[in-house]
Amino acid sequence: MSITKATCPYCGVGCGVLIESNGQKITNVTGDPDHPANFGRLCTKGSTLHFTAQPHGRALYPEMRPNRATPRIRRDWDTTLDFMARRFAETINKHGPDSVAFYISGQLLTEDYYVFNKLAKGLIGTNNVDSNSRLCMSSAVTGYKATLGADAPPCSYEDIDHADLIFIAGSNTAYAHPILFRRIEAAKEKNPQLKIIVVDPRRTDTAAFADLHLPILPGTDVALFNGMLHLLLWDGAINQDFIREHTEGIDALKAIVRDYTPKLTAETCGIAEADLITAAKWFGESRAALSLYCQGLNQSRHGTEKNTALINLHLATGQIGKPGAGPFSLTGQPNAMGGREVGGMANLLSGHRDLRNPEHRAEVAKLWGLPSVPDKPGKTAVDMFEAVRNGEIKILWIACTNPAQSMPDQALIHEALRQAELVIVQEAYADTETTAYADVLLPAATWGEKAGTVTNSERRISLLNPAIAAPGEARADWRIAVDFAQRLEAILRPGQAALFPYESSEAIFNEHRETTRGRDLDITGLSYELLTRRGPQQWPFPEGASTGKTRLYEDCVFPTLSGKAKFAAASYKPVAEVVDARYPLSMNTGRLRDQWHGMSRTGKVARLFAHAEEPRLAMSSKDMLRRSVTSGDLVRIKSRRGEMVLRAESSDDLRAGQVFLPMHWGGQFVRGLGVNELTINVTDPTSKQPELKHCAIQVEKANLPWRLVAMAIGESGQGADALARLQRLRGHLNDFEFATCGLFGREQECVIFRAANSAAPNPDLLADLEQILGLDQALSVMHYEDQRKSITRRVRVANGKVVAVCLFGDSVAEEWLKDWLSMGHPVADLRRMLLAPIATPPKGFAARGRVVCNCLNVSETEIAAYLASANPAEPIATLSDLQQQLRCGSECGSCVPELRRMIANSTAKAA
Ligand code: SF4
Repeated sequence: MSITKATCPYCGVGCGVLIESNGQKITNVTGDPDHPANFGRLCTKGSTLHFTAQPHGRALYPEMRPNRATPRIRRDWDTTLDFMARRFAETINKHGPDSVAFYISGQLLTEDYYVFNKLAKGLIGTNNVDSNSRLCMSSAVTGYKATLGADAPPCSYEDIDHADLIFIAGSNTAYAHPILFRRIEAAKEKNPQLKIIVVDPRRTDTAAFADLHLPILPGTDVALFNGMLHLLLWDGAINQDFIREHTEGIDALKAIVRDYTPKLTAETCGIAEADLITAAKWFGESRAALSLYCQGLNQSRHGTEKNTALINLHLATGQIGKPGAGPFSLTGQPNAMGGREVGGMANLLSGHRDLRNPEHRAEVAKLWGLPSVPDKPGKTAVDMFEAVRNGEIKILWIACTNPAQSMPDQALIHEALRQAELVIVQEAYADTETTAYADVLLPAATWGEKAGTVTNSERRISLLNPAIAAPGEARADWRIAVDFAQRLEAILRPGQAALFPYESSEAIFNEHRETTRGRDLDITGLSYELLTRRGPQQWPFPEGASTGKTRLYEDCVFPTLSGKAKFAAASYKPVAEVVDARYPLSMNTGRLRDQWHGMSRTGKVARLFAHAEEPRLAMSSKDMLRRSVTSGDLVRIKSRRGEMVLRAESSDDLRAGQVFLPMHWGGQFVRGLGVNELTINVTDPTSKQPELKHCAIQVEKANLPWRLVAMAIGESGQGADALARLQRLRGHLNDFEFATCGLFGREQECVIFRAANSAAPNPDLLADLEQILGLDQALSVMHYEDQRKSITRRVRVANGKVVAVCLFGDSVAEEWLKDWLSMGHPVADLRRMLLAPIATPPKGFAARGRVVCNCLNVSETEIAAYLASANPAEPIATLSDLQQQLRCGSECGSCVPELRRMIANSTAKAA
């Protein structure tokens, strides 16, 4: 067995991992105790990474479609890349360089990003290269640049340990950045005086942990921050010396915030005036205030202003450049930072340079050995797909991302992908929503198979090493881009000096390093050798330095022309799509604890469905009552752009008028185009980031009386078999008015398909589903039919165990049958149960319900039973009781916030 150092490919915390492998296969993953981001800890997603390292669903060979009407067929690399180079050259010659575009990803490594950026801006001469980071961090970038002068998070994770106020805005850190949240919990335990304020319309697990939760109305963040600044100014709780010596623009801002009186602010934000006053007081009195913020601020039509209004609070109080203080943007993706460093977006240039600055363009051209680089800004994500749709962009190359799931207003995205003359998709996985549109599929290496660097939220660069070779003919992303670029270069600029001479990712890193010389992110002191020897390092780390910088702006000098930070004159404006009588509910989208983005990786691990099996629309009980909806009912959700049918669930976390939908489920797991069929593509005017955090919707109960639930274990109990079945079941999602599919089980991975219709569907369709699940093999299938009630049950048995079940008409037995199946219980009792008019579980057997602790497989039902059994005369159960008795929450800790909530709820009930 060998051990290889890498990082987790999910969120921007950037946890270090140790990959165990046998040379052929990744066998396990553990946290790297030496990595400063996590010191050995991993969350549920990171600790199950090895389950994702499996061959099923991987893109293994280059494929091309002879024409749109035929499926792709396997090709060799040379044929594929030659074809692509010819098509690019023809299109560029005929329609100009801006007729092609690249849509890349915050999950690429920095070296991959660098080559794509140079390919577009250097060789082709277009700035049409944008990234899915546009959906994630671009407002954080514009916020930092507008106020502090550079796209540089000034803080470090260790600031959490020095803060006496942590102000979390628009971030469910407990779910989205779990290991960072562990650090916040530890800081609070060590210092009970540490105050935590959480700003979030929902009472998330993060909010429940706070000393003060401000459940503001959607989109009112700027009003809140300005209202707090109004109070700070009024109370004299600002740092006059800091403002005078190190900032500019306070007078213009004062004129704006004068109007944000406590009463008006509280009304605008929908919070208690006293809570607003408390928040401002705590911020003003704090010795060290640290803000942590993420998509709640960024994914907004006014994301830049939300960022700047928060940073204004830090500048006004001098809470920056010292231990425990500063505005700290949490990065969504593992290497969104690296992408920004190389300038891999439509409006950026290498080394944090600005595309609009002629000197910066000249510097980059010189570094690349070119006469110039293009000055016309490229198309940002939403505009890029619009330009593909209207024919302005002819060729679109998508790498390592899944826009047919993740972009807002999916109908537009799918139409664009249909309209494009040529869609190239470079992917590790063959089965994403986007690969369905690929005219050319390029198989890419992925986590555990690649060498290169990533930068996490705290500016820390880690070097990743490959643990195993990529499967089939998959290649590293940078290698694919270089192999293509060399061919295109031979056509476009024959006989000239090679722009892409790289033979290793290290050679690319060394060139990228040189582009940072003298810039705010100078990493000229770093090398692969140093990163290997000394481990991950923070930038800046210029040549001659012995360490990187833990904290920026300690000297209060900012990278602006004057050296002073700038207050931004941010004012509150409402969300793009206000609710009205027709669309009366505000829909928020966001992350779940155990899934990641569009599920192309996490959606292959059965146990990661145990915490949330399917997408459910969380609604307040008042809104449900008004619509005669109860938890588990199907509801039809409509926005101005699309509609979908999902189950609803009651949530105490939301106030009336607001709903929450997880962002992860796309057309591979639900009927239709997924969650983003509903969302809106209006963007922030500066950052061009779309408003994914709010759209107006209507909800009504869906009357779909005919129900189906079908489930089966993988034929050999292996995950790959379940995934193969899942792949086939997906083909039927759109045959029903409601349908979802997914995985469940632990030791035995199982597949599940749920559907509902207004009337019974065509029998051929049901026969096909039965065939996929192996329920058509008559000899081993038990069958129960009640024609009067239109109920049919079919159960397949193998080796004395149930291996597949299909319930038509009545699906009430779904919950316990799922457990029965996945736990491999014998069939004996089941025969009697299934042949009864109502399928009830065997005596003493109950459904386990949702799994709260995924590491140790402890369910909500088991925890609730333990809490209910606590003797009222005894002290109320504590977290350590639960950890000792049921062991839940004693491994990765991701479930600890939920356990705390369950204890608090049980305590409240007992009282
Ligand atoms: Fe990965 Fe979890 Fe760490 Fe994020 S917090 S990097 S998802 S292990």
